[in-house]
Amino acid sequence: MQGLRTCSIAITETGAGSDAAGIKTSARKTDAGWLLNGSKCFISDGQWSDFFLVSAKTGEKEISMFMVDKGLPGFTVGKDQLMMGLRGTPHLELYFDDVVLEPLTLLGEQGQGFKLAMGALNVVRLAQVGARALGKASHVLELMVNYVNERKQFGQKIGDFQLVQQHIADSVIEVNAARWMVYKAAWMLDQGFDAREQIAMVKVYAAEMLGRVVDRAVQLFGGMGFCKELPIERYYRDARVYRIFDGTSEIHRTVVAKSTLKKGAVLFDVHR
Ligand SMILES: Cc1cc2nc3c(=O)[nH]c(=O)nc-3n(C[C@H](O)[C@H](O)[C@H](O)COP(=O)(O)OP(=O)(O)OC[C@H]3O[C@@H](n4cnc5c(N)ncnc54)[C@H](O)[C@@H]3O)c2cc1C
Repeated sequence: MQGLRTCSIAITETGAGSDAAGIKTSARKTDAGWLLNGSKCFISDGQWSDFFLVSAKTGEKEISMFMVDKGLPGFTVGKDQLMMGLRGTPHLELYFDDVVLEPLTLLGEQGQGFKLAMGALNVVRLAQVGARALGKASHVLELMVNYVNERKQFGQKIGDFQLVQQHIADSVIEVNAARWMVYKAAWMLDQGFDAREQIAMVKVYAAEMLGRVVDRAVQLFGGMGFCKELPIERYYRDARVYRIFDGTSEIHRTVVAKSTLKKGAVLFDVHR
């Protein structure tokens, strides 16, 4: 692999977000290959992608994945959805109007697309949401520690006040907890174990932990934490979507709860 061409994953539609199997985009088999029709939204980095991995129905209850090149006749890129955070990356709408796809564009087996996408996204999620949230939270925590060690009020460093120390302590504890959760899930993947539930736990915990840490940072930076002059307000805005994209906290909690009810203590006791 040379990494010369970049791609985005295009699953979400206006009517199908959490319910990724509820898509309307379809691909009909033809003599030439496939005919793709439908639309997608919120597609990250779409502006810079050369091609897209698009989910489409290939039967009543069958979903397949296709590699769709930008620039194909009938494929148009719509508006960039402006958001409260992550303003440095585009999140595009895509439209497919009788786009002719060659047979080779089908990824894996017909009808295996959903399984394929969910398997790959699970691993990507550990890095792109879990590890990234952890890295961001660690960085913000370092900024907080430096600030409370310098900023003086009432003639002393604000880090000397116990109520300020509580924000620091809670953040250190939670960043450490998230780090071990990320490492454990990564270790399980390295060993070839099924880490679906661990990654769901990481997704919920790391995303929500990041939200709490950046919120404390705004608080400890005081008025300056709310100002555009410092990056803290941007970290605060950017953090919010971690609980939403790549499966919402509610969806991942549901995965954890259902698996635990089925498998029991193996999900929370190392000795089983
Ligand atoms: C910045 C950003 C980047 C994105 N990038 C991409 C991308 O590159 N490719 C892509 O395909 N998609 C992308 N998405 C889409 C993203 O994955 C979806 O927004 C997400 O899955 C949620 O879907 P939704 O927005 O339709 O919300 P909905 O599914 O409508 O959910 C709305 C609310 O209902 C709750 N809910 C829904 N179902 C249940 C349930 N069964 N139980 C409990 N609660 C439930 C949700 O948790 C949520 O709180 C991106 C979104 C954003 C904001």
